[in-house]
Amino acid sequence: MSNKTIEHFISYLNASPVPFFAVKSAIEMLSDIGATHLSETENWNLESGKNYFVTRGDTALIAFRAGKNAASPFHIAAAHTDSPAMKIKPESEEYQSGALTVGVEVYGGPIISSWLDRELGIAGNAVIRTSDGFKSVGVLMDRPVAVIANAPIHLNREINKGFEYNAQKHLRAILKLGTEDPGRLFIRRLITDTLKCELSDIVSYDLFFYPFEKAALMGNNREIIASSRLDNLAMCHAILSAFVTGVTSDCTSLAVLFETEEIGSRSLGGADSSFLDTILERISLGLGGNREDFLRAKSGGFLMSTDMAHGFNPDYSEKYDSAHICSVNGGVVLKLNANMKYCTTSVTASRIRALCTNLNIPLQTQINRSDIPSGSTIGPISSSISGIPGADIGNPILAMHSIREFGGVKDHLDMIRLLTEFYSL
Ligand code: ZN
Repeated sequence: MSNKTIEHFISYLNASPVPFFAVKSAIEMLSDIGATHLSETENWNLESGKNYFVTRGDTALIAFRAGKNAASPFHIAAAHTDSPAMKIKPESEEYQSGALTVGVEVYGGPIISSWLDRELGIAGNAVIRTSDGFKSVGVLMDRPVAVIANAPIHLNREINKGFEYNAQKHLRAILKLGTEDPGRLFIRRLITDTLKCELSDIVSYDLFFYPFEKAALMGNNREIIASSRLDNLAMCHAILSAFVTGVTSDCTSLAVLFETEEIGSRSLGGADSSFLDTILERISLGLGGNREDFLRAKSGGFLMSTDMAHGFNPDYSEKYDSAHICSVNGGVVLKLNANMKYCTTSVTASRIRALCTNLNIPLQTQINRSDIPSGSTIGPISSSISGIPGADIGNPILAMHSIREFGGVKDHLDMIRLLTEFYSL
């Protein structure tokens, strides 16, 4: 499976510049196995062993394979579709001395300097007027249309001594250069060009800049994947790849792609919402069960919260706890934190260890230096809301939240094997 799987991973990354398209790419994978698209507004009559999926908004998705019965334990693997980015401020174009720029809001916590001097595309969604009412449609300008440029070093001599970018002033993106003022509707005109619609059709939009540079394999043996958004599209892809293998089990298998993890998970389809718990209850009810079956299915379930981890970078060796160093291509990472920034406990960790031992997958542990606070992810939120025990795992990458991150080919394949096995239990 390895070469084809990695090729598919690279096309998944390239086809998914923003969460809207990460979900669209996921739906394509699920359609290949004949999964049925359900709506939360409809009545669900589910059949054991069949594949289904449901979306919330355009940027969160839950797929599931119905288990043997309404009380079958839930086996959940979850990840998030969003990555740090620059969001376009609507109606903020300004023309000054030959340059048309647009303002941005910083989404999540990117390494801001990595966004400078890059060719940027635009992607997201727009709400347009149709004869059937308002409709949200994907917008993908898959060509370089903007740049957030640095000042020349001659005008900013201090830049290599640590420079703080002001998001209001320094991150405006240049959309056009020339002596003619193209007006304040430039972004809307780009949308109409892309969607082949009229200016008056566009009601509103959520658009983001994304780096035009495509994902690539690098290293002498092509053992490293270089890409934007490995955090956390790598785990979205690993979960979906494991799910669509179609391994069967008595349990109900779920592939959960939450939105908005990078900004705290509090949204309609985020981990800190009713999304997962509601869908779990609907599954039990849709299989003909009652609330007790639903609660039993949760109590016997397990959550694999998957998100990327920090691979060791020798240039910053002082930032790591020397007893808990994780290497890229060194194996799957189990994340631990005393303050429950991760949901892993000694009990749930033992399940991950046993799985990895059986599959001959190396397992590394990530614990931060005691003087550097840990990040967090969807695991603790999702586990505490649902009452389902779980563990936080992931794969190590370099330069997390940079516009270009670097992960391991072997780790990705190992993660798919691990999750496939999990779904078969
Ligand atoms: Zn993440």
